Amino acid sequence: MTEDRIVITGAGGFIGGHLVAELVRRGRTRIRAVDRKPLDEWYQVYDGVENVVADLSRRESCEAACRDASQVYQLAADMGGMGFIETHKARCMLSVLINTHMLAAAQEAGIERYFYASSACVYNAERQTDPRVTALRESDAYPALPEDGYGWEKLFSERMCRHFSEDFSLATRVARYHNVYGPLGTWEGGREKAPAAICRKVVEAILSGEPRIEIWGSGEQTRSFMYIDDCIEGTLRIMESDVEEPLNLGSSELVSINQLVGLVEEIAGIELERYYAPDAPLGVAGRNSDNARIRERLDWEPSISLRDGMERTYKWVHDAYLRRYGGHLGPRDTAPRGAHTRGR
Ligand code: NAD
Repeated sequence: MTEDRIVITGAGGFIGGHLVAELVRRGRTRIRAVDRKPLDEWYQVYDGVENVVADLSRRESCEAACRDASQVYQLAADMGGMGFIETHKARCMLSVLINTHMLAAAQEAGIERYFYASSACVYNAERQTDPRVTALRESDAYPALPEDGYGWEKLFSERMCRHFSEDFSLATRVARYHNVYGPLGTWEGGREKAPAAICRKVVEAILSGEPRIEIWGSGEQTRSFMYIDDCIEGTLRIMESDVEEPLNLGSSELVSINQLVGLVEEIAGIELERYYAPDAPLGVAGRNSDNARIRERLDWEPSISLRDGMERTYKWVHDAYLRRYGGHLGPRDTAPRGAHTRGR
């Protein structure tokens, strides 16, 4: 018997690249990896994988991607950290083209199982106004008041998965990822997220000899961060499960951004003066993942500690920085308007 073909879209990106890597490690041989970026910009590329460069906002690319396949992991999206999604709302919403065409193409191709990477940005903003959070349960997505732009698109697309499942019997699985971090992802250029950005800023402070770091907002905003290995394990478990409704996939280890900076300082062995940029894009005041349902349904939840994950991530960002800029300082972001200083 021939093994089933698995399609991973957004495979040139951070999570998609790690998912391909894990499936290769698990001995899967019929993997089709699709992304619109040129191949030399993919974070990970494997021999023996069918690597396809295609724009999945076009229906015909989605049809070609799904041809002769049985499973789809849909991770492609035009997205980035808070600095990107708060300033590119229309672009984030245009990912609806990818999700619409991919679902329609998957249904037409007779795909047996379809995974969609949703986000904690679907949750009602009114439940996230205090840094001392009550962790978000899956039911907190409704009544709907998600993150403007990016979150609305994610909520709409996960809803489409539900209706494709109910009306067309396409078996869909949906994970709501909470901030994923780790090596082999974006760490500069404007789309990077807080953990990688903080690692890069610490490297820059060391290289520049100016022991200072800029923090967006007051630094009191709280989040949880999931290490990439937990994200991949959870994604595969959710795909294999019989859970049809969206599940949180996130760490429940809550930290403030100030604490995250403190952790990276400890790892790097440096203490920095902190500059606060109150006008920078912030997102919600606090957010954590309630893992009761994933524990109950899958008897599993993310468990890699922030310290372990950040040690590996800092080392990777540090080395990537040195490789790219040869030990010199690269171009640095300028502080958003309104930045001011405060000591530790
Ligand atoms: P990423 O930006 O590294 O990867 C996304 C990939 O999608 C990119 O390589 C991009 O080139 C590709 N893509 C974008 N538009 C495309 C198109 N039209 N056709 C083909 N490919 C296209 O992001 P990531 O962190 O790996 O995220 C993967 C998925 O997980 C996304 O759907 C994202 O919204 C979701 N997610 C991520 C996080 C996180 O913390 N990283 C949190 C919540 C949800």
